[in-house]
Amino acid sequence: MVTDPPTTAHPVLELRAVSKVYRVQTTMFNRPRDLRAVDDVSLQLHRGDVLGLVGESGCGKSTLSRLLLGLEAPTSGEVLIDGKPMTGTSIRDRARRIQPIFQDPYASLNPRKTVADIIALPLRVHSIGERSDDAKRVTEMMDRVGLPARMLLNYPNQLSGGQRQRVAIARALVMRPEIIICDEPTSALDVSVQSQILNLLMDLHDEFGLTYLFISHDLSVVQHIASRVAVMYLGRIIEARKSTQLFADPLHPYSKALLDSVLTPEIGMGLPETNLGATFPNPIDPPPGCAFHPRCGHAMQRCHKERPPTLREGSDRVECWLHDDLEAEQTRAVDAQRSTAATPDTV
Ligand code: ADP
Repeated sequence: MVTDPPTTAHPVLELRAVSKVYRVQTTMFNRPRDLRAVDDVSLQLHRGDVLGLVGESGCGKSTLSRLLLGLEAPTSGEVLIDGKPMTGTSIRDRARRIQPIFQDPYASLNPRKTVADIIALPLRVHSIGERSDDAKRVTEMMDRVGLPARMLLNYPNQLSGGQRQRVAIARALVMRPEIIICDEPTSALDVSVQSQILNLLMDLHDEFGLTYLFISHDLSVVQHIASRVAVMYLGRIIEARKSTQLFADPLHPYSKALLDSVLTPEIGMGLPETNLGATFPNPIDPPPGCAFHPRCGHAMQRCHKERPPTLREGSDRVECWLHDDLEAEQTRAVDAQRSTAATPDTV
């Protein structure tokens, strides 16, 4: 696991109360309805952070990553890069700072381009540096990600899955970005290759001082790599804490159910089977109160009616009525420190 870096003054990437609502039509005869894919999410990434984002399929992880990449605009709230609104930055600026690595390296690489062309493409699209320097930059990057130079003129179908993901990583890094959004970067790979790619990502994190948002359904992968973890449920971050704390003692019953569902600690041993059943609620009709209450063994009367607020203690955050004592503790802490700086919100 990557150790927690010292907190920098300003987050390099930040979501402030961001929501993304889609208008969806479920049948030909119904009126379109709102689907809250991301619901009032605030989070911060500081330089060097590796923030793991976990949750079941459909909880909003990919929508959140598209918002962070600037591929979609929030319905409300704000995305900031280095403290400046994303809306005020050019596509080129964004591409120089944030790059994605996606799940399926085969689908994300153009089958008609050579490795050299694929890696150099972002430089050409965004007119970075001189074309005559491309070959040097590409071979340097191939070396960094462990691809032999003899593969320069190979096509994606001539490479293994692991080699293709190395090409995708080189293509992201050739722009020298500060932040990488890794969306399930090892899920499509053979188990034996997954740990090689994870170790490569960790080495590159240290070498280039990168900041990662690491999206995965595979908790053992997240435990391996993330310094902090945010757990998402029906568009909301319901728990966000240091990785060691969350894995040792999850606060939210949903986080606990996810952790209990990891049947094996081996990396890449498939999708976790949750003991919650296949009862993920319909995001168009979310349950009232706490959205998790219909699946929660600890649900109280209050959970059926009132949505829990975000309860905090230091940098820990949880949305669950079982922990409403945290709010009181935080209130006391804030009272005691009223004249000093506010507690940093580091997740
Ligand atoms: P995850 O990545 O966690 O599987 P997604 O972000 O893909 O979740 O989706 C979250 C919710 O938003 C899902 O209910 C999905 O059906 C819905 N959704 C995602 N993209 C769109 C879209 N473009 N239009 C309508 N609904 C969408």
